[in-house]
Amino acid sequence: MTAQKIAIVGLGKIAKDQHLPSISRHDGFDLAAIASRSASGLDVPTYEDLETLLKSEADITAIALCVPPQVRYDLARLALEHKKDVLLEKPPGATLAEVHDLIRLADENGCVLYATWHSRHAMGVAGAKAWLAGRTPTSGRITWREDVKHWHPGQKWIWEAGGVGVFDPGINALSILTEIMPVDLHITAAELTFPENCDTPIAADIDFQGPKGFGMKADFDWRQTGKQTWEIEVETTDGTILLRDGGATVLIDGKEVSSDEALASEYDGIYAHFADLLASRTSDVDLSPLVHVADAFMLGKRVTTEAFYDEQ
Ligand code: NAP
Repeated sequence: MTAQKIAIVGLGKIAKDQHLPSISRHDGFDLAAIASRSASGLDVPTYEDLETLLKSEADITAIALCVPPQVRYDLARLALEHKKDVLLEKPPGATLAEVHDLIRLADENGCVLYATWHSRHAMGVAGAKAWLAGRTPTSGRITWREDVKHWHPGQKWIWEAGGVGVFDPGINALSILTEIMPVDLHITAAELTFPENCDTPIAADIDFQGPKGFGMKADFDWRQTGKQTWEIEVETTDGTILLRDGGATVLIDGKEVSSDEALASEYDGIYAHFADLLASRTSDVDLSPLVHVADAFMLGKRVTTEAFYDEQ
C-alpha cells in the first residue's frame, strides 16, 4: 500500500498533541507538508498558507484542517477545488449550510470528505452503543464540566462568534450521544449563559426529549475547577449505563466493563477510519451533533454573567 501524502493546516494544540503523533503511527499516511501562519524550523516543508502549499506540493492527496471552525470553510473549499480529500476537525463548520456546501463540492469533485468526531473513538463508545441497541431508554443525563482556563488558555476564537464556547467540548458529548442512543432525541428547552464580554456561552443547560416520554438533561459548564467531569448516563428498562472520562470508561449497573478497543488514542481511531474512507472512496459527514448545537442556539434562553477574562 502506498502511503497517502497528507498536509496539516493550522499547527495549534490539537495538531501538535494528536494529529502529528497519530499520522506518524499510521503506515497509510506520510506527513508531506504543513501550512502554518506561525510555525518554522520544522522537518517537513512548511508554507504560510494553504494556497502556496497547494501550488508547491502537487502530489499531496489529503488535507487535515486543524484550524478553528470560523476559518475552516474557505480552506476546505480551496482544498476540494484542488481535488484533495479533506479531513475536518470538529465541529465541521461554523454553520450547517457551509458543511452542506462542502458535501456537495466533495461529491462533485470526487473527493472524500470526513467530518471527524474524536470522542466517538473513545474506548467505551462502541461497547456502549452495542449494549444500548435494542434496549429502551427511560431517562438520562450528560454532565460535561471542565475548566476552560486549563484546557483552552489563550484561545480567543472560542469566545468569538462561531467558536461555539462551551459547546466546543459539549459537542464531544453530543457526538457520543448521537452515536450510542438507540432512539432519536431533540432539544425542547435550553438556557445558555454568556459572559457579558463574549459572543459565545460559558455554560448551557439543555433538555432533550425522545420517544415514549424519554427525557434527558445536559449540563455543560466551563467554570469547573478541581475534578473535571465528562459523563453520560442512560437508564433503561433493564439497567443503567454510565460512560465516564469522556467515554473511556463504562459502568453497567455500577460495575466497570472492559473494552475490546486497544487503540493508543482517539486520533489513531480517526486516522484508521480516514484510511478506510480513502480506500473505499467514501465520505463520512454526520451533522447530528452540530444540529443539536444549532438547535440550542435557536431555542435557548440567554442569560448574561460576569465578564470572562483569560489571564494567560
Ligand atoms: P488552537 O490551539 O487555537 O490552534 C488552532 C490553529 O489554527 C492556530 O494555532 C493557527 O495555527 C491556526 N489558525 C488559522 N487561522 C486562525 C485564526 N483565525 N485564529 C486562530 N488560529 C488560527 O486550537 P485547537 O485547540 O488546536 O483547536 C483547533 C480545532 O480542533 C477546533 O475546532 C477544536 O474544536 C478542535 N479540537 C481541539 C481539541 C483540543 O483539545 N484543543 C480537541 C479536539 C478537537 P498556525 O499558527 O499554525 O496557522
